[in-house]
Amino acid sequence: MTTHKKPSQNEDEYFAKRDAELLRQHRQAAQRAATEAERKSHYMKCPKCGYDLLTGDWHGIQIDQCTHCHGLWLDAAEAEALVKHPEPTIFGRVFRAVMRGVSGARASDS
Ligand SMILES: [Zn+2]
Repeated sequence: MTTHKKPSQNEDEYFAKRDAELLRQHRQAAQRAATEAERKSHYMKCPKCGYDLLTGDWHGIQIDQCTHCHGLWLDAAEAEALVKHPEPTIFGRVFRAVMRGVSGARASDS
């Protein structure tokens, strides 16, 4: 009588554990890849309607604008540049320029 397991049983356990670990790693990698693909599919897409965003330069401030609903998107750095711009009226100037662009885009839509 012995407390030791037979070598074949130890081997079976070893391979079962190894297979389970490999399967777990494979699933994790697949999950990461799916998450990354999902994230990439949203890159430069409008968060509201899902159409493409186009980056425009307005008085040196870059603003991403939706090609469909014409919503505006500012990165944190772009918003900061707008707020910290030496010209105090830059915010109004930029948005008036953007709104003229939007009106033009809307007019050309119809
Ligand atoms: Zn949109």
